[in-house]
Amino acid sequence: MGLNVIMMGPPGAGKGTQADRFARERGLPKISTGDMLREGIKDQNPVALEAQKLMDRGELVDDSTIIAIVRDRLGRADTRRGFVLDGFPRTVGQAVALDRLMEERAEGPLVVIDVSVPEQELVRRLGSRKICGSCGTNAEAGKPACGKCGGALVVRADDDGQVVLERLKIYERATRPVLDYYRTRTTFRVVNGAQALEQVARDVDRMIDDAAASVGGGAAGRRPGERRMSAGAAE
Ligand SMILES: [Zn+2]
Repeated sequence: MGLNVIMMGPPGAGKGTQADRFARERGLPKISTGDMLREGIKDQNPVALEAQKLMDRGELVDDSTIIAIVRDRLGRADTRRGFVLDGFPRTVGQAVALDRLMEERAEGPLVVIDVSVPEQELVRRLGSRKICGSCGTNAEAGKPACGKCGGALVVRADDDGQVVLERLKIYERATRPVLDYYRTRTTFRVVNGAQALEQVARDVDRMIDDAAASVGGGAAGRRPGERRMSAGAAE
């Protein structure tokens, strides 16, 4: 059984940070559609190249293309023990397609984590969010310079109050139906992202393990290299 996680949350909630951390600690691949597209284009994958053409024309990449790319990525061997999805699914159509994929894989349940933060706090955070002036990487909290290239940090130009609110509204409109699609599942969990980073991390870990265990994901808490007898022995 794999540990299959979707990390959701609005811009500024810290969902990307948590997705990165959790994936690294559990030895799982973190999969974002942006990264997949970039990799696919580098590998001259025909679907990714088609998507690039759309983007070059300023068009949105349609669901079926995104799904084809995700299907391809989840077919690789490194996802056998699970994965952490960041930025997918963004539409109900994508969520339905992912469910179908998961059924085909039969590699364990899908755990959905929603990192939730009040709007006011998001506006405050995004309004002071800094990026690297050289390479554009998001600054890590409390770091004086870019973690990637050491460049000087600057406040994001588009992050003033009104723009931030607009971005949050767009996110809310687009994502609400996806959250509603998952909300009633026993493997859906809301994490309070307004807490200190370490507490959010502890909650994320606990809730993912708990959600996976609730549907018999016996391998959920297993760390890389840690061997255990069958967790289903209590059956
Ligand atoms: Zn940089």
